[in-house]
Amino acid sequence: MSTVAIATHDIRRLLVANRGEIAVRIIRACRALGIEAIAAVSEPDRESAAARMADGVVHIGPGPAAESYLRADKLIAAALESGCDAVHPGYGFLSERAHFVRACRAANLVFVGPSPEAIEAMGEKITAVQLAEKAGVPRVPGSAELENAEAAREFAGKVGLPILIKASAGGGGRGMRVVRDLAQVEASFEAATSEAKSAFGDAAVYAEKYIERARHIEIQIMADAHGNFVHLGERECSTQRRYQKLIEEAPSPSITEDVRHRMGSYALELARSVSYQGAGTVEFVMDEDTGAFYFLEMNTRIQVEHPITEMVTGVDLVAEQIRVACGLPLSFSQSDIELKGHAIECRINAENPLKGFVPSPGVISVWEQPEFEGLRIDTHCSAGSKIPPFYDSLIAKVIVHDLDRSLAIEKMLRALSQLKIEGLATTADFHQAVLSHDDFRSARVTTRWVEDAFISQWNAARKKKDATQ
Ligand code: ADP
Ligand code: ADP
Ligand code: MG
Repeated sequence: MSTVAIATHDIRRLLVANRGEIAVRIIRACRALGIEAIAAVSEPDRESAAARMADGVVHIGPGPAAESYLRADKLIAAALESGCDAVHPGYGFLSERAHFVRACRAANLVFVGPSPEAIEAMGEKITAVQLAEKAGVPRVPGSAELENAEAAREFAGKVGLPILIKASAGGGGRGMRVVRDLAQVEASFEAATSEAKSAFGDAAVYAEKYIERARHIEIQIMADAHGNFVHLGERECSTQRRYQKLIEEAPSPSITEDVRHRMGSYALELARSVSYQGAGTVEFVMDEDTGAFYFLEMNTRIQVEHPITEMVTGVDLVAEQIRVACGLPLSFSQSDIELKGHAIECRINAENPLKGFVPSPGVISVWEQPEFEGLRIDTHCSAGSKIPPFYDSLIAKVIVHDLDRSLAIEKMLRALSQLKIEGLATTADFHQAVLSHDDFRSARVTTRWVEDAFISQWNAARKKKDATQ
């Protein structure tokens, strides 16, 4: 029998190459593991919570991400200058950039995440769906790269309308257009292509059959360097607006044990096919009318909504990411994973839901947050925090855990009603209204529900209330 030598790396000091709540979250995991954390901060983040909590701070440049958090060279210089042996990229920014992983390795820094090859394999959706197909994972009927609008028209002729034109390099819900009428093909193709080009520097688009009544269900996986692959169940993220997640829950209220098992197996099959290591998420879309589910994409990083999985499994996913990056085996096996109770996360954004969710940067004048059993708030904000205009508008994640879904909903409503944020507009009230709605309570929410049903009802109710006051 041959033995495979696995390098183990001793991580003593880690650079947090991110900001906001996830930077705070990574620092917490470092604390739990006895690792020192250094915060890389842009100019407006000099006084951030991460900067205050970290064991050291390195300035990496001005506010705009292109001049700071997206600069691989500056982050690597920061890591080396502060004596770090590892880098955690968080989500967004450089977390899914293979060139950054290679640059870390060249500088002898451990990158907390998968190999550059795995990131590349999954980074472009056109190749990712092909790999999924090869691994036997069902995909939405889809096209190859579309050369022009005519190719989109042909694809629509084949699978029928509606279709969805998607950016191959896409993320964060950008670069997608639904085509419901052939007269729109040209304009939608142009819009998706130019958004893809400006947002991701890559104009490649492809098309999929658009599932009208869809649920978004994703599987969290973890894999190590020793060939262990484990899935940690699913999260349902169907409460979305413009393809962006607003509320997530675990487990999904709408799948059976059999579907969970099949999705989990597919996710692991795909991960194995690219020799995946670390934390990853395999996303699926489920057709509410037929119950069929299809692969969407794989995110090769920690996700925003990872805490709900932590709540129902008891696993610290960020600490586990770091352990795996050190070359250690997973601290659990598949049979250890049991989903207990129900967890919900609401993303609190500095946005005004009454004005089309326009971002509302500014200064938080009042911040009061409740504290009770089964409540976790992941945030970098407090009274006096400045929310700069340069970044994502996420200011807090309110996460609750209880014995079942309806108790978790009640607990979330209690948490949101006790959360007091003043000085800028947030989505907290919006979440309260969603959680109080019958459709949400009875889990009848598909990905279009917020836009097609909820928002207009909510606005009408508010107008009526204002008129009577
Ligand atoms: P999650 O599934 O983790 O919720 P999201 O798609 O909401 O992932 O993205 C998480 C964060 O990463 C958001 O801040 C989003 O704007 C950012 N993001 C996602 N994909 C990309 C990308 N390709 N380029 C830049 N930022 C991205
Ligand atoms: P991103 O990288 O931006 O997260 P995804 O491919 O994961 O892109 O899609 C984001 C969201 O768009 C999904 O959660 C789902 O709501 C919707 N979506 C994507 N593809 C389809 C499809 N073929 N049919 C219906 N909805 C889709
Ligand atoms: Mg996605």
